[in-house]
Amino acid sequence: MFAHSISPDHRKSEDEHRRDVCTVGYWVHQRGYVASTDGNISIRLDGRRVLTSPTTICKGMMEPDDLIITDLQGRKLAGRRNPSSELAMHLLIYSRRPDVNAVCHAHPPVATGYAAAGLPLNKALVSELVLALGCIPVARYATPGTPELSEALEPLVQNYDAVLMANHGVVTYGPDLLTAFFRLETVEHFARVALVTELLGKQVLLSGSDVEKLLAARARYGSATAAPIGPECPVTSDVPEAIGAGNRITLTREELEALIDEAVRSDRARR
Ligand SMILES: [Zn+2]
Repeated sequence: MFAHSISPDHRKSEDEHRRDVCTVGYWVHQRGYVASTDGNISIRLDGRRVLTSPTTICKGMMEPDDLIITDLQGRKLAGRRNPSSELAMHLLIYSRRPDVNAVCHAHPPVATGYAAAGLPLNKALVSELVLALGCIPVARYATPGTPELSEALEPLVQNYDAVLMANHGVVTYGPDLLTAFFRLETVEHFARVALVTELLGKQVLLSGSDVEKLLAARARYGSATAAPIGPECPVTSDVPEAIGAGNRITLTREELEALIDEAVRSDRARR
């Protein structure tokens, strides 16, 4: 029933867009990026209409005529079902990014774990991620379905193509639906890699000059649709506090021995 592939081109008929949204919904559910009826997907059909998945349906089980069409203010123009309360954030992204024609929102478990921990995926750990997305910030928490959700995303939409939503999930977008979906897949994949480096207890970051070369290549490879990299993004090995920031400190052997001697001396003095 669902296609194994969709083409990246955004110039398609409405029927083709409907099939693509159902296919991506199936992929998102099959890959475990959502549970139950979570998540939402949309496409900008033209200058005034958006095609979107409806609320309270499993995104892996949608049929083309389940989808609905709204205007850019979220008013329903066509369809039996109702739009998601999270459509507002899609509409915000379309209004701020004329280059964006598709948005995917899901709750992939590892990236959502980072979002729930308030940790951005912003370290230069993997060259491909720097090429694809630069880094992925965390938008502050806001209640789903309220205008605050869009307000939380607003400052980040211009400079990033993927955003973690604190205590909630991930939103990605691009010039076409396949690109938006691939960005979602890339975020979750990188989150897994970052988690493995945490488990291994060691992270070797790329240097600032490594990252500069990647950004030059990114421009050459025609990632012209990608948003510009934000400030301090990604964090490189040139930033000393990037590694082990927080509770970790470094001591030489002599400093450690001096500390132990001091502790033993003061313990003896107390007896
Ligand atoms: Zn959500």
